[in-house]
Amino acid sequence: MDKDAKLAENEEGTVLFNTDPIIIKYHYEIDYLHSYAQDSPFFTGLTRRKLLGSRCTSCDRRFATPRGHCMECGAPTEWFELPHEGRVHTFTTCHFGGQAFLKETPFTLIMVEFEGVDTLFLSRLIGARPEEISVGMPVQARFLRNCKFKPTDVYFVPK
Ligand SMILES: [Zn+2]
Repeated sequence: MDKDAKLAENEEGTVLFNTDPIIIKYHYEIDYLHSYAQDSPFFTGLTRRKLLGSRCTSCDRRFATPRGHCMECGAPTEWFELPHEGRVHTFTTCHFGGQAFLKETPFTLIMVEFEGVDTLFLSRLIGARPEEISVGMPVQARFLRNCKFKPTDVYFVPK
């Protein structure tokens, strides 16, 4: 036995942003292999500036956030194209976010409602200060020119 055993330590420091609560910076990187499986057409649609929802093949319920099967009756769904214009159903301003969004804080998230669609779509809103945003405000979809095959490839601006 070695009663003087110690974990090896390096001389790297930690960047401390805040003390209460403690917020530190450290490098984090991982290669992540992820399949979109049945959701793949949604992301392919974004590369073509199309916003795809899904429609129940039995009861015609329409989902702005696509799903493979209807959450009302369980029947399979089929794809349909959502309009590029909708209205703000609700919104929030985020002053903190995950690693990918930290540099963009504060940012605004909105739930978009589309005419004739039964569920909402979560997205970013840019181009309006929080005090300028209101429930019912018309918004217009925009798409990143260089798609990353992520939900953030689409965002909204005031119409
Ligand atoms: Zn259904």
